Amino acid sequence: MFNEKAQMMKGDKIRELQKEKMLKMVRYAHDNVPMYKRKFKEAGITPSDIKSIDDIHKIPFTVKDDLRDHYPYGILAVPKEKVVRFHASSGTTGTPTVVSYTRNDLDTWYDLMARTYNAAGVEPEDIVQNAYGYGLFTGGLGFHSGAEKLGCAVLPTATGNTKKQIKLMYDFQTNVLACTPSYAIYLSEAAENFGYKPAKDFNLRVGMFGAEPWSDEARASIQESFGLKAQDVYGMSELYGPGVAVECPKQNGLHIWGDEFYVETIDPISGEVLPEGEKGELVFTMLSREAMPLLRYRTKDIAVINYEECGCGRAHPRIMRIKGRSDDMLIIGGVNVFPSQIEAALLETEGIGEHYQIIVDRDVLDKLYVKAEVDRGHYESDEYDEEELLKRTSENITAVLNIRARVKLLEPGSIPRTVGKAKRVLDMREEHDRIEDV
Ligand code: ADP
Ligand code: ZN
Repeated sequence: MFNEKAQMMKGDKIRELQKEKMLKMVRYAHDNVPMYKRKFKEAGITPSDIKSIDDIHKIPFTVKDDLRDHYPYGILAVPKEKVVRFHASSGTTGTPTVVSYTRNDLDTWYDLMARTYNAAGVEPEDIVQNAYGYGLFTGGLGFHSGAEKLGCAVLPTATGNTKKQIKLMYDFQTNVLACTPSYAIYLSEAAENFGYKPAKDFNLRVGMFGAEPWSDEARASIQESFGLKAQDVYGMSELYGPGVAVECPKQNGLHIWGDEFYVETIDPISGEVLPEGEKGELVFTMLSREAMPLLRYRTKDIAVINYEECGCGRAHPRIMRIKGRSDDMLIIGGVNVFPSQIEAALLETEGIGEHYQIIVDRDVLDKLYVKAEVDRGHYESDEYDEEELLKRTSENITAVLNIRARVKLLEPGSIPRTVGKAKRVLDMREEHDRIEDV
């Protein structure tokens, strides 16, 4: 097992290490990052006030805007000369958030990534096809270097060039596929179109899927079509990148590597810390980041944390799967829903394919509007009844989510495919803004 000591660390040891590292980190961030010195001063505290893990609640949050304010070099705790890498989040809106790494930061990250692969069931003998995007996005280099560190052979195919991707998957009999879940679905579809039977012709055993929310139904479908175990990987560029948390083969929550990350859940509106087991926004404190320390960083990701030891023997706390970001939450007819819950309801409906889009047009919606592709493979041409499928789809959505839905059925292939993170929600409000801008 790769870094067995860290992977199998007992709960009391994790907490002891968290305390020791946290106290050091708080002082380090305060002394080396002017922003933290200021935040501490404003809150009327000094590093000496933080004596235990619970004292961390006294420290103000760090938010994404704090990072944007430090464009381009980010929140630096070291002289620029000590930085060996910059990454940036895609930042579809506004200034990108830049993150920086020292040599030690990269080593820590790659160790976390190697553990992440290994905990998900990947072994040094495996060939890893890395179809995450390489570049400023942390996915490519993160999944690349972690696999190398574990001792795997990496095929750095990057995202796109699907035909070649599939040929390599076949010729090399790749064992592990690393990419976004939406791209995995796209690849399986494309492989079938090229005449392959993915589960039979390919040799994939484990999928390392992350960077976006996906439902259990999407997981079941990917597992079945490729005949692999589809493992969920969570992370974000602010916290090194991927490799913050990963599913073990029990597939019952993602283990957050507690020796490197201290996690809390808060009420996203009031900012209040929630008791264990309550659903809320995840807040992370990095325990050994050199270049860009982050104390109590608000992720906007909503989840529940489970502190019970897992059946796999790991004591690292588990995030039950991320349903979505507070940003993406839709309020439809007064009910809060995440796109991934809508996905679950759609994929549960026999006759509906894997590609869909949610259309949002007003701030407060009274009805959900979705476009979904028909799963033609499910029907013999004579028994397809559009009316019946429409009715059943909206009924299913209402049964699962308790909201009303208007559904439009499309032929397979009508919804644009993405190779990176999928864009499931089409926000017409943005479109209107764009028209008004012109
Ligand atoms: P950006 O998308 O802004 O470029 P990142 O690539 O760092 O930045 O994306 C991080 C975000 O992606 C997370 O905050 C989370 O919302 C989402 N994400 C990453 N992994 C997962 C996952 N396994 N499940 C659900 N959401 C995820
Ligand atoms: Zn486990």
